[in-house]
Amino acid sequence: MEVEPSQIPLQPLSNTRHKCPACYKQCKKKEHIIEHMLTSHHSVHDPKCGVCNKHCKSFESLREHIFGPLAKVNCSSIFAERDCILCLKICSSVDSLNEHKETCHLTTPQPIETVEIHRSANEMINIRSQEVVAICCVMVGGDWSQELCARVCLVDEDENIIFQTYILPPTPVADYRYEIIGISENNLQDAMPLNEVRERIQQILYSGEPIGRVLVGHNLEKQLHCLKMSYHDHLLRDTATYQPLMKTNFFSHSLKYLTKTYLGYDIQVGFHDPYQDAVSAMRLYKRMCSQDHPMVWVSISPSQLIIGCSNPWKSVAHERMTIEELLAISRANYQCWCLDSQD
Ligand SMILES: [Zn+2]
Ligand SMILES: [Zn+2]
Ligand SMILES: [Zn+2]
Ligand SMILES: [Zn+2]
Repeated sequence: MEVEPSQIPLQPLSNTRHKCPACYKQCKKKEHIIEHMLTSHHSVHDPKCGVCNKHCKSFESLREHIFGPLAKVNCSSIFAERDCILCLKICSSVDSLNEHKETCHLTTPQPIETVEIHRSANEMINIRSQEVVAICCVMVGGDWSQELCARVCLVDEDENIIFQTYILPPTPVADYRYEIIGISENNLQDAMPLNEVRERIQQILYSGEPIGRVLVGHNLEKQLHCLKMSYHDHLLRDTATYQPLMKTNFFSHSLKYLTKTYLGYDIQVGFHDPYQDAVSAMRLYKRMCSQDHPMVWVSISPSQLIIGCSNPWKSVAHERMTIEELLAISRANYQCWCLDSQD
């Protein structure tokens, strides 16, 4: 007797499906999983679950994997016991977790008025070579809902203020936003003109660094726009647009949210403080830089190479490789900040 197609028992999933070894996505056909590997940009720089090793596109999706409504039970139960809620690291014991928390969980930086300024205006050109600086601009409202930079603060890697000043906006102020940022007309009356501020900032960025130093901040494009200043894209480290720190839909988080979620303290509770914001962006940057990502070296056999192709990713015959080999040569589609500390 002939068997109707609908009566053929389905084979178990594991026999018929190909699984991505990074995100565990499953496909029926090998060419689909190859296509997935070519477009997913998995790499050693992905945030990963410390229990099942699943790669996620951002820390937010890793948080969903651990704490979300569809969380994996095994992962979330181990995380519940020994995981640091801020950096999502799993510790070997409850004791080591407590020890870890002391370095991971930070406290709110002191407000700008109480910070001692370690460098005078003349000294500021002697910033350590290759030192990264973080910036925060505070804006008031101009005409036509224009944003005008009214205060700026730059800090070094050790959270010292390199430069901070009120800024005399080049056009009239329509709204001082006193309730949010604590700036009044008095503060800006004799403030430094914008072009002078820009010169100082450029001096900081280029002193001893012919091509410029790395600049950290939140929403840098907007800040630079308000300073009427341009800077090299490849030297910007923006906590608003760094993929691992973004929402699962790749929208930006606020600096307030990132600081609370990754560093464990509140900012912008009272007046918006440019020192606290600049330090928080710097701390987020340093935390991301210190991610322990192994460097991978992959050897590709001659049979897998396509001769005469200069792009390493396109020069291999993907269908001749295993999925694990494809993962090994796959590269992130963003520049991981851990690479800053590796040269
Ligand atoms: Zn995948
Ligand atoms: Zn990395
Ligand atoms: Zn997991
Ligand atoms: Zn931690």
